[in-house]
Amino acid sequence: MKGINDVNFAGKKVLVRVDFNVPVDENKKITDDTRIMEALPTINKLLKDGAAVILMAHFGRPKKGGFEPELSLKPVAEYLSGVLKKEVVFTQSIDFADIQALADKLQGGQVMMLENIRFYPEETKGDIELAKKLAALGDCYVNDAFGAAHREHSSTATIAQFFPNNKYFGLLMEHEIVNLKKLMTAPEKPFTAIIGGSKISSKIDVIKNLLPLVDNLIIGGGMSYTFAKANGKRIGRSICEDDKLQVALDLQEEAKKENVNLYLPVDILAGDGFSNDCNIKYFPEIDIPNEWEGMDAGEKTRQMFGEVILKSKTILWNGPVGVFEFENFAGGTNSIAKYIAQATDQGAFAAVGGGDSVSAIKKSGFADKISYISTGGGAMLEYLEGKTLPGIKAILD
Ligand code: AMP
Repeated sequence: MKGINDVNFAGKKVLVRVDFNVPVDENKKITDDTRIMEALPTINKLLKDGAAVILMAHFGRPKKGGFEPELSLKPVAEYLSGVLKKEVVFTQSIDFADIQALADKLQGGQVMMLENIRFYPEETKGDIELAKKLAALGDCYVNDAFGAAHREHSSTATIAQFFPNNKYFGLLMEHEIVNLKKLMTAPEKPFTAIIGGSKISSKIDVIKNLLPLVDNLIIGGGMSYTFAKANGKRIGRSICEDDKLQVALDLQEEAKKENVNLYLPVDILAGDGFSNDCNIKYFPEIDIPNEWEGMDAGEKTRQMFGEVILKSKTILWNGPVGVFEFENFAGGTNSIAKYIAQATDQGAFAAVGGGDSVSAIKKSGFADKISYISTGGGAMLEYLEGKTLPGIKAILD
């Protein structure tokens, strides 16, 4: 692993790609600073060494090409300055002559931050000329943006080739890779994966890649109704991908071949509308009449899933098992969080990833019990699919 801890960066100008794509409210106030706080260990290590730190990040999805005031990273730079208790030199300009001049003046122990890197339309194309201009700003390159590691962009991948002997993983990135590797190579058995969320289509490749690895596969949430329908059950108005019924059957066959125990919901809490205040009805079996929609796992299902989780030594959770955003239908997802926390207390290694599962585990109050919470939604999914992430490959090459 090409980590930063074995290197002293004194006197170096270090370009660091971070993931500062934080949620903000209508007044540009940061509503969740997790991504900023998680980049601090890397930034602080470099500053402690006496390096000058140049941060590159993206924010939202600029479309116009060029500066867009509502997508400026300025509020993030100000926030970071408050957290670090030191000035963060914000470039403002997206003209490289200005940026280079500021970088040239930067001293060891100082922090500079570039404007939204996606104001350059070349960034998302992985353009080499843009990468070259960025590379000219520093002596070393550190990638700490796991959340963007599945993107082959100028600042996440292309740039690394300009630092054949001076490119490293940041501490957050290293933590992600170490834990994902632990999960996907020689996990302690029994290994249980809990896959939920709204759609089977976005998780097919993850499930396929996991089947040879896991002992138990728990399928919950919206996507379980596609399995239920494929198995001939009545699902009422529940969410279903009719064009994936055969896929659901094939995955079940595949699970059998791989000797994986597959668990699907056996009872359901349903609503007569998609809201928190709809009428709620319990169905002791998956046999849901037309006017009802499956919204959460029932009590029998929660217990069944819980028993499997508590017997596991390695657990991976991606995707809620109900519409957890509505309090009345968050019980199933919360029970998964509770059982995983309990299993972790008993010595299991538990990993949680994907935006919704992370917010679900935070909401449940059990986040601090989890061995590893991934910061990358799409990046983690692609890693679990067995894909090589360009951001990781570029450092290793
Ligand atoms: P995904 O992005 O595919 O992981 O899906 C996450 C979303 O799945 C969350 O917003 C949940 O509300 C939603 N979800 C979970 N269970 C259901 C369900 N039974 N019906 C509709 N949506 C669901």
